Amino acid sequence: METEHSRPRTVNCPTCAVLVEWGPAQPWRPFCSERCRLIDLGSWLDESHRIPAEDATLLTDENDSQ
Ligand SMILES: [Zn+2]
Repeated sequence: METEHSRPRTVNCPTCAVLVEWGPAQPWRPFCSERCRLIDLGSWLDESHRIPAEDATLLTDENDSQ
């Protein structure tokens, strides 16, 4: 019984949860496409930029009222 060898390995795309075959034919794995990869990266960058950006705006507003 060598079912593990003959069965193609698949993963779920972290962005849209579609089934992606894990292999050289899928360069964006574990994502299903370049678009899903960029969406995931974009949302991650957006989260990390949002908080410091709001803090800086509040501080600048108070300090600039001379
Ligand atoms: Zn996807």
